[in-house]
Amino acid sequence: MNLYGGIEAGGTKFVCMVGSGPDDIRAQVRFPTTSPAETIGRAAAFFEEQAHRAPIGAIGVGSFGPVDLDLASPTFGFITTTPKPGWANTDIVGMLHAELNLPVAFDTDVNAAALAEHRWGAAQALDPIIYLTIGTGIGGGVIVRGKPLHGLVHPEMGHMLMSHDRELDPFPGVCPFHGDCFEGLASGPSMKERWGQPAETLPDDHPAWEIEAHHIALAVANLIVCYSPRRIVVGGGVMEHTGLFPLVRCKVQQLLNGYIQATQITERIEEYIVPPMLGNQAGVLGAIALAIEHLHVLGGA
Ligand code: ZN
Repeated sequence: MNLYGGIEAGGTKFVCMVGSGPDDIRAQVRFPTTSPAETIGRAAAFFEEQAHRAPIGAIGVGSFGPVDLDLASPTFGFITTTPKPGWANTDIVGMLHAELNLPVAFDTDVNAAALAEHRWGAAQALDPIIYLTIGTGIGGGVIVRGKPLHGLVHPEMGHMLMSHDRELDPFPGVCPFHGDCFEGLASGPSMKERWGQPAETLPDDHPAWEIEAHHIALAVANLIVCYSPRRIVVGGGVMEHTGLFPLVRCKVQQLLNGYIQATQITERIEEYIVPPMLGNQAGVLGAIALAIEHLHVLGGA
């Protein structure tokens, strides 16, 4: 069995794993994100030590962003304009390649998680699928024909512009670019700002959840009509609130109003809009999946 390295490169922590899938995890380590040199050096040292036990075929990285995924660009594999101090214009792929001399696959953290849920989790054997995460930020990835959809850059579903009923919800939103885009209205920080307390401390009967479900359902309905996914996996800290899934599903049905004639939506929506199966391992397992696919493309597996 070939082994692979995966890195979930987050803004607050790095998670590194060696294995070949959820049933074959050989080693895992997590540490805080400090400077690029120190953090990437620590990741490289972990893989170097692991490679002495059994060879590693390729490394995959699912990174916080924004990132450059354009293979033809001189800054491919870079974290680009992040406000995170010290990390703007970091050549994460180049640094890892220089340290480890292994092929390095690269994508966004959310595309990696989408790929993992497609390969091993809640959206297996379905295509296309969407993975959405609603937490500190909001992001989403689309898997089409088994691969994360890239384009001009990559999807930025969190910044979808919303139909915002200001009588129902006068809150102006927290996105520094758009105010009341999806992330501006429905992320964890947005809920905290609007209600003066963190989302996880809001009781079940608080009006916050009805409004939150409304915004999420609007975005999900837009994604359904745009991409026609066969399943939508919705993760992130905000979605862990009991009762939010049923509210969102019900509002999606109301918003679509019978227009999409598919029993997945009209009769079995609890199998259509679902929580993730891989939990907080989706990101790093997705990085492993990126490495597997990359080596496959290179003809090495
Ligand atoms: Zn925005």
